[in-house]
Amino acid sequence: MNADRAAARRALLDLLDAHAAAGRAVPCRVQPDAGWTSDAPGDQAYGARLCERCPALDQCRAYGLAFPKEAGVYGGLTDLERRRGARKAG
Ligand code: SF4
Repeated sequence: MNADRAAARRALLDLLDAHAAAGRAVPCRVQPDAGWTSDAPGDQAYGARLCERCPALDQCRAYGLAFPKEAGVYGGLTDLERRRGARKAG
């Protein structure tokens, strides 16, 4: 993991910790088995729908689009959706 990615990941995890400490539920932490990191697109799609309630949706999506090779759901997008988005943007 390069330094930029490590720092961005740390910042995102710190944000999730802050939301959790303030009592704001982060869906992928409340339901860690809901498909976020599954290899099955349908499972990831289910997790991605749960992201709509997340207080860190925008920041998580930005991270996932900045680092499209990360596996799994980020910010309401499956890994396939993020890679397609990155290709269009690039
Ligand atoms: S947006 Fe989704 S994947 Fe990202 S922290 Fe929130 S629940 Fe987890």
